[in-house]
Amino acid sequence: MTADLHIHTTASDGRLAPEEIIKTALSAGLSEIAITDHDTVAGLLQLYADKAVIKGQLTIIPGIEFSTEFPCHEVHILGYNIDIFHTALKEELGKLSYDRQQRVQKMVAKLKKLGYVIEYQQVLALAGNAGSIGRPHVARALLENGYFTEIGEVFTALLGKNGPAYVPHYKMNIKTVLQVIKSVGGTAVLAHPGLIDNDDIVFEVINVGIDGLEVYHPMHTSWQANKYLEMAQKYNLLVTGGSDFHGMPGRYPEKLGDFTISSALAKKICRIQG
Ligand code: AMP
Ligand code: FE
Ligand code: FE
Ligand code: ZN
Repeated sequence: MTADLHIHTTASDGRLAPEEIIKTALSAGLSEIAITDHDTVAGLLQLYADKAVIKGQLTIIPGIEFSTEFPCHEVHILGYNIDIFHTALKEELGKLSYDRQQRVQKMVAKLKKLGYVIEYQQVLALAGNAGSIGRPHVARALLENGYFTEIGEVFTALLGKNGPAYVPHYKMNIKTVLQVIKSVGGTAVLAHPGLIDNDDIVFEVINVGIDGLEVYHPMHTSWQANKYLEMAQKYNLLVTGGSDFHGMPGRYPEKLGDFTISSALAKKICRIQG
């Protein structure tokens, strides 16, 4: 039995809607999945409304992925078992969502000045019902208007961290992220530590009180996975993993079920809420 604890949907920058994720996960034979959209639980709320949270053999763990404020590094924190109906969470996510909307408008304005004409409404339409709009939606508008042929090119030319159209978004600091996750019943896990490329930061996050490490991730080498496995064992942290699935053509894994972890690991993190 296999599991995948890192999946994005159309509620943020994934291409498959939450219910399509469930269908695909079932046909891929997964037994536990976590939906972990960037800064939003809108996809999960949709599923709960449809009463589709536990479907046959498939358990869906409510999750989220937050970016944190660090001067020079991208540090992402996954929250599992969160109470998606909690008012404290709703309040925090409201701020993040509002800021993301303002930020996309600023990026659209910057792009116009650079000669790339897209409309904010167009980005919103491409984002559909995404509770969390971001650079991938802006990039898709640029492809739609014929400026580029691949998302990666847009990031390289314009939207990357040092790119001319980049605008940062509001991020909580690491302590606040952990507080928010824990205050809504969640378990906090450091996402893809290997991508931070700096273990001093990994130790800093461990010291602040992270509960687990995402040891298994498609961008980790087996050497990195072993290193973080040993680190997790040494500091008594949970071990998790997932595909970081976005359903984006050209980005591995293109199919849900192609990168999985054992169901036994997933069961250790999964707390069914009463
Ligand atoms: P945002 O949260 O709006 O800053 O957008 C970040 C998202 O953009 C990430 O979660 C990735 O899905 C996507 N992304 C970042 N860099 C690239 C890249 N070079 N090519 C394609 N997608 C990217
Ligand atoms: Fe993403
Ligand atoms: Fe991430
Ligand atoms: Zn992710």
